[in-house]
Amino acid sequence: MRYSGLRVFAQGLAGNRGWKPVWRRPEPKAEYDIVIIGGGGHGLSTAYYLAKNHGLRNIAVLEKGYLGGGNVGRNTTIVRANYFLPGNSEFYSHSLKLWEGLEAELNYNVMHSQRGLINLFHSDGQRDAFVRRGNAMLAQGDDAVLLDREGVREKLPYLDFEQGRFPIHGGLYHPRGGTARHDAVAWGYARGADRLGVDLIQNCEVTGIDTRQGRVTGVQTTRGPIRARQVAMVAAGRSSQVAAMAGLRLPIESHVLQAFVTEGLKPVIDHVVSFGMGHFYISQSDKGGLVFGGDLDFYASYAARGNLPMVEHVMEAGMTLMPMIGRARVLRSWGGIMDMSPDGSPIIDRTPVEGLFVNCGWNYGGFKAVPASGWCLAHLMATGAPHKVAEGFRLDRFRTGQGLMDEEGTGSQHNLH
Ligand SMILES: Cc1cc2nc3c(=O)[nH]c(=O)nc-3n(C[C@H](O)[C@H](O)[C@H](O)COP(=O)(O)OP(=O)(O)OC[C@H]3O[C@@H](n4cnc5c(N)ncnc54)[C@H](O)[C@@H]3O)c2cc1C
Repeated sequence: MRYSGLRVFAQGLAGNRGWKPVWRRPEPKAEYDIVIIGGGGHGLSTAYYLAKNHGLRNIAVLEKGYLGGGNVGRNTTIVRANYFLPGNSEFYSHSLKLWEGLEAELNYNVMHSQRGLINLFHSDGQRDAFVRRGNAMLAQGDDAVLLDREGVREKLPYLDFEQGRFPIHGGLYHPRGGTARHDAVAWGYARGADRLGVDLIQNCEVTGIDTRQGRVTGVQTTRGPIRARQVAMVAAGRSSQVAAMAGLRLPIESHVLQAFVTEGLKPVIDHVVSFGMGHFYISQSDKGGLVFGGDLDFYASYAARGNLPMVEHVMEAGMTLMPMIGRARVLRSWGGIMDMSPDGSPIIDRTPVEGLFVNCGWNYGGFKAVPASGWCLAHLMATGAPHKVAEGFRLDRFRTGQGLMDEEGTGSQHNLH
């Protein structure tokens, strides 16, 4: 069923009785050409582009819970292309271009809103670093504008510019940055993949990866064994556990990242604002909630909930930046499991097991990567060659040290860098 304004109108007149389920609920088959482990944003977009760009059809996505129940539905929805180093910047630039056509591509409203992102700076040294970053963004073909203090005040008059510790000197403005509705992105890709014949199998946990003579042959699942010629591990925070099923040890640590939302308010924050020195960032959802977050909980964990010290830290940073936030009531908080790589950059690569691929290491920023990540993993699996915008995301960089990318030295212990 094609969605359109006319369709919504007609369905409204007919009592909304004609809507169909957005995807099928197929039983798993005994064999597929390709099995993707993980029905998050990256797994679903990989399946979609394998079918759409490469004409492959005999594909299953295996999801242990429900589609969109992982990090893709838990993030703070920021979409941007403001990276500095070669290797990352062309990839995220490609991703942002895909975002800009995504709703038309999927015939699905993912509520992509390019409301602009402002990264604040608080010293001359930080301003110089942002000037370099802005020039790199412009050289990449993306957009960047340096704002002085008055330029920021014009856009964000509610900030406390005179705060003692980090007085605001200006900001790097990325007008094409913004937000999207996170779970709609999963649903849109799921619907698109299903329409191209991909089997989306929920409540199907992969419990083992079968190999013979160094080659992958299939997976064991809670719904029985499934044979496959190619298997992709796209399990985000669970990547290390899934890879261990094939005897592999990944350079990944899993940590909790928390986020918060307030009660719905009238429009007040019409940009995404990032206060790096305070480890705080914020935007306002279309429902009116102020959505904000901070840094990682600094211990490795598979619990999708955080700890109180980080709650205190984030609230303090919010109050420092915009005291008005103290008037809003926090509605809820939650956590997601982040797959942190040592250099803050992702991995899209083959593994030493033939036919077995890995997509992980998205750190804080894998939501905005969803389109390009699926595009590039699909390209690698279908053609055997890495896509040119993801050539650096190789697993062996942690062994050889060559081509090591480092946006800002994030990795698992951000506070130690
Ligand atoms: C609080 C928070 C805020 C964030 N904010 C942003 C942001 O503003 N912008 C941004 O770009 N990124 C952000 N991120 C990061 C982003 O959400 C993640 O990097 C990205 O969603 C990870 O990829 P995914 O969508 O495929 O993950 P997921 O949705 O987690 O998908 C992985 C799936 O694999 C499944 N799985 C795991 N093990 C198995 C198994 N054995 N068998 C079958 N299935 C399995 C899981 O159930 C899960 O559904 C944030 C993350 C969090 C937690």
